[in-house]
Amino acid sequence: MADAEGQVIVGLEVHCQLDTLSKLFCGCSTDYRSDGPNTHVCPICLGLPGAMPALNKRAIEYAMKVAKALNCEIISEAEFSRKNYFYPDLDKAYQITQYDKPLALGGYLEIESDEGGEKKVRLTRIHVEEDPGRLVHMGNTERGKYSLVDYNRAGIPLIEIVSEPDMRSPKEARKFLNKLRATLEYLSVFDSEKEGSLRVDANISIKGSERVEVKNITSYKGVEKALTFEVTRQKNLIRRGQTIDRETRHYLEARGITQSARSKEQEHDYRYFPEPDLRPLRVKSWVDNIVLPELPDARRERFIARYGCSLSHARTLTGELKLANFFEQVVAADPQGLSPLAATWIADTLIGELNYRDMSLDRVEPAAMTGLVRILKKGTITDKSGVEVLRVMLDQRHRKEPDNTIKVAWSLTNDEGKVTLAAEKIPVSEAGIKRTIIEAPETPEAIVQRLALAKHTGDDRVITAAIQEAIAENPKALGDYYAGKAGALNFLVGQVMKKTRGKADPADLNRMLAEALKTRGP
Ligand SMILES: [Zn+2]
Repeated sequence: MADAEGQVIVGLEVHCQLDTLSKLFCGCSTDYRSDGPNTHVCPICLGLPGAMPALNKRAIEYAMKVAKALNCEIISEAEFSRKNYFYPDLDKAYQITQYDKPLALGGYLEIESDEGGEKKVRLTRIHVEEDPGRLVHMGNTERGKYSLVDYNRAGIPLIEIVSEPDMRSPKEARKFLNKLRATLEYLSVFDSEKEGSLRVDANISIKGSERVEVKNITSYKGVEKALTFEVTRQKNLIRRGQTIDRETRHYLEARGITQSARSKEQEHDYRYFPEPDLRPLRVKSWVDNIVLPELPDARRERFIARYGCSLSHARTLTGELKLANFFEQVVAADPQGLSPLAATWIADTLIGELNYRDMSLDRVEPAAMTGLVRILKKGTITDKSGVEVLRVMLDQRHRKEPDNTIKVAWSLTNDEGKVTLAAEKIPVSEAGIKRTIIEAPETPEAIVQRLALAKHTGDDRVITAAIQEAIAENPKALGDYYAGKAGALNFLVGQVMKKTRGKADPADLNRMLAEALKTRGP
């Protein structure tokens, strides 16, 4: 690929926690997020002398599923190695990972390019390793009095997926991550909603300059933000004639900036050597028995063929497993009749309203959405009223407690403020909080009735009256209209819309207004 001078070049290293029940080398449960610190530990994941690791077969199966789905080659004899370094999050003072013989090589993932077409991002390798523990710094790392360590996370199976530097913008990097997340979820090996289940290191350079590594990015949005910051920073340096240092930088999520990591800290000598307590992995033959489910690309094509979705709607709807399932549930009763409208209302309107409320799709009943789409299809309400009904539906569900427990954080307070260690769920009654009981949410039909949103159609007298009022109240716009000024008609339409509170059928309204203006004359 030939890149012009100044071209942005991005490669990613993505760490994903595999959603197994137990850790990679011991039987400790991976379901630690609601529990107190250091409650999911044993001699193996604490690295006590003499404890022997026993490989979790399921984790290897999951990793191979990913490798197959991403078109990688499984190598015939993979090996675990010890990566030695001394840091408090690493209880054994080494991490069991894969070095020169990773599980899988090559492969690719297809994403939507900045130009709108499909492009292949090549992969370098996928390897399996254990997650280190988690450090909680009391205060910032320089001035804090002490740090706390939680080994609940130590030993959780991770895969590291390393891409080639094939992405050409922060936006493409985000698309790569979204596509990767969707693929892992379709494979049922990953839960993106678990905090910290995905972490990214990004390599970014401007063609012709040195490469910078940005570490520590823990959110999907963070990747695009961190890279956008870096593009601006690096391009500014080049503009001023300064050189870009080859260095590692940390992303500070709260401030949205990257900061140079002191280079000394990065000069590790990991002294990799083969892990003597684990045998080489000869699992290449397993790959033939792995049956892959329908993956995002195939589902996207099916949505276009079966439901007549546009490419852009099909991409959005299949971009998340839950959303794709939701869409199919909504249209199940009448795929032919409901699909086009449902695709628009889910991919465009519903997603926007959910994001605005920071609300998850889980809280929306597919049946309620089907009800709304049916009403819209019948044409008994306008699109504007449709949005109003949807908002009422979401607000009613938003307020409802999802279950009868709430999360209580385990936290400590120090000079710098409150530090959350972990969270646990306790019954609401114990927390002394009264649960607001909300009646069963209203159906879309009931909302239409209660708010009297039924559309005014035909030669409705409400529309006629609103038109006459608008004409009488806006002599200037009227004059402009007859003088042939563009925009005057739209203004008048807007006035009538306002008076009918968005309940007039737009086609009827336009026709009746045009007639009224013609009859009246200048
Ligand atoms: Zn353990």
